[in-house]
Amino acid sequence: MAEQDYYETLGISRDASKDEIKKAYRKLSKKYHPDLNKEPGAEDKFKAITEAYEVLSDDQKRANYDQYGSADGAAGGFGGGGGGFSGADFGGFGGGGFDDIFSQFFGGGGRTQQNPNAPRPGRDLQYSMTLKFEEAIFGKETKITYTRDAECNTCHGSGAKPGTSPVTCHNCSGSGYVTTETNTPLGRMRSQQVCPVCNGTGKEIKEKCPTCAGSGHVEQRHEVEVKVPAGIDDGQQMRLQGQGEAGNNGGPYGDLYIIFTVQPSKDFRRDGADIFFEDEISIAQAALGDKIQVKTVHGDVELKVPAGTQSGTVFRLKGKGAPKLRGTGNGDEKVTIKVRTPKNLNKAQRDALKAFAKASGENIAGNGKGNFFDKVKDAFNED
Ligand SMILES: [Zn+2]
Ligand SMILES: [Zn+2]
Repeated sequence: MAEQDYYETLGISRDASKDEIKKAYRKLSKKYHPDLNKEPGAEDKFKAITEAYEVLSDDQKRANYDQYGSADGAAGGFGGGGGGFSGADFGGFGGGGFDDIFSQFFGGGGRTQQNPNAPRPGRDLQYSMTLKFEEAIFGKETKITYTRDAECNTCHGSGAKPGTSPVTCHNCSGSGYVTTETNTPLGRMRSQQVCPVCNGTGKEIKEKCPTCAGSGHVEQRHEVEVKVPAGIDDGQQMRLQGQGEAGNNGGPYGDLYIIFTVQPSKDFRRDGADIFFEDEISIAQAALGDKIQVKTVHGDVELKVPAGTQSGTVFRLKGKGAPKLRGTGNGDEKVTIKVRTPKNLNKAQRDALKAFAKASGENIAGNGKGNFFDKVKDAFNED
């Protein structure tokens, strides 16, 4: 579905505002609309533009697309892709003002009445989950519990007492709307209202289900097992299909979106699949080279620090980062080596460094003497 780059298709930047997206879409859709542009390829182009607009104009879909390259949330691994966009989602134009040709194209911009008895999916829900730094890297299995509107088990969502069925509303003949006519000085005015008998459902329930009082839904504590994928990152989300609220008229359950917050680590910093770590070595280790044990989320790893390593040098420990959410394998750990300048030298250390300076042909003023007691000793020794 997401083979095209939606931003490129609309010719906008990745941080384009909603307004910019809309403007770009209007401009391009006029240019390529198949009723206006008979050139070959125009229709495909128009479809691509429309698809891009449908995704980028919807905050949720745009966020998914930015993170996963798909409007359906993390594709593949969890939740199962598929889906696509239902026409009902498309209400982007609000307030009219858009050329008629487009409202025609998009089914009248919501002005056409929907059958109140058509199946409608339930609401999507959101759940915030906080993960420890390591949990996000390695994933975890857990159970979550939340309250949702579920289908009533007694009436299976019909709202009618078992053994009875809802009947078509006598007042509106099932349309959910009634038309009233009033005489005004300007003539007869017709207006449409939601049917007061059935509240727009098109159905009348003569004997209500005792469990749900006719609503067809009951509030339920619902438990779901969640497999947090290894490599999930702060701010990312995951869709669990069908774990939202019950639909109406036999429509499917909505989805549950789990939004992750990942706690920081005191040792590591993470950017995508790469992990950053800082380690210190002494001047002697930096100059002579050494093997050191470096902390990684996968356990300690030996790192060879070559002789002559400068402070700030970054070493890469391949595959010691977080798993890549898309693709295979791990990112790397990048270790920044800081060379520790010794403080509070004792006499032996200072002498050694002076000797080192001398051997290097350096003439050092040496005002950075050690601690008070060293200075006192120095005074006695007339060093
Ligand atoms: Zn019921
Ligand atoms: Zn009615």
